[in-house]
Amino acid sequence: MSLSDNNKNNNGGRSPVAVVIDAGYDQHTIEEDILRPFGFQVIERACHGAAQAVVKAVEGADAVLVRESPITAEAFAAMPNCRVIVRYGVGVDNIDRDEAARRQIYVANVPDYGVEEVSMHTLALLMGVVRRVASRDKAVREGAWNVSRAEPMQPIAGRTLGIIGYGRIGAAFHRKCAMLGFAETLVHDSHAQDLPFEARAVGLDELIERANVISLHVPLRPSTGGMISRERIARMRPGTVILNTSRGGLIDEAALADALHTGHIGGAGIDVFAKEPVQRDNPLLATPNTVLSDHTAWYSEASVTELQTKAAQEIARVFAGGEPASWVNRWA
Ligand code: NAD
Repeated sequence: MSLSDNNKNNNGGRSPVAVVIDAGYDQHTIEEDILRPFGFQVIERACHGAAQAVVKAVEGADAVLVRESPITAEAFAAMPNCRVIVRYGVGVDNIDRDEAARRQIYVANVPDYGVEEVSMHTLALLMGVVRRVASRDKAVREGAWNVSRAEPMQPIAGRTLGIIGYGRIGAAFHRKCAMLGFAETLVHDSHAQDLPFEARAVGLDELIERANVISLHVPLRPSTGGMISRERIARMRPGTVILNTSRGGLIDEAALADALHTGHIGGAGIDVFAKEPVQRDNPLLATPNTVLSDHTAWYSEASVTELQTKAAQEIARVFAGGEPASWVNRWA
């Protein structure tokens, strides 16, 4: 039975249906519990990111929960009763927001999940790089002992921390760095107003030229894409450590790889890549003193629960007669 068969009596006493597309979570009892008071049926559909499969899957839906799969104009046409689309996560570029606004369908996201996890992961990458945790682990397993002098390790106490993007995650990362003994923190953010007294707002170029550790926390936009360019990398201090848990497209990856090989850049902690999953020929896979992860900075069991809860609550708000808390396609 298709959803449309199931939904013939829209607003005529039938149960509303929330379709979950390609979420990949173990269960959806969290969404079911939150939406039960509204009579919802929660149905999961696997579409493997294929637009046509999504059109079929959402047929007749009243609400949709989605990660990266495309929600196109055609998909909207297949669900005339839909009132809200919620993105499990932040980026909503997979959803045709203009078409949704034209149909007065709310598009919402969950911008504030996983702040603790991403900021902690950034700190873990920093520690891993400066203390060479991954390479020491590998060396010990291969039978080496006490060869630490073969790998340079510099203290970070007394050095300068640079944070590019001082929003939720950048600020949380800064708080976590409080005990590391940095002499100063430079912040570059186009909007940040209230910096704590121990941070100083500077232009991007001053930060690039003065920081010993540079951590990226700006969104990827036309204005930020490639901001860590070959030319800017060349102007960084010798031995600078670069951390990126934001988006791969912020960095010229080939230029960073070259600078890691020459030693001009002392190390890097990278969770995100220009193309994901990371391609086997990505030059950062072969660079020295680089700790990599697979866009898992956001992840913990708690953050998944938080994400599912906040996403379902957006649907509940709409069906309770209100607006989503994080409504991203405002038409009024
Ligand atoms: P946020 O919106 O709270 O903060 C972003 C900050 O960047 C804002 O303070 C904004 O003023 C600033 N900014 C925007 N454009 C700028 C520019 N051109 N120059 C300088 N500053 C600029 O976002 P957040 O929650 O802190 O998340 C930051 C980024 O982290 C997200 O955009 C996302 O790309 C990334 N992220 C990654 C993961 C992961 O798993 N690796 C998970 C969640 C978020």
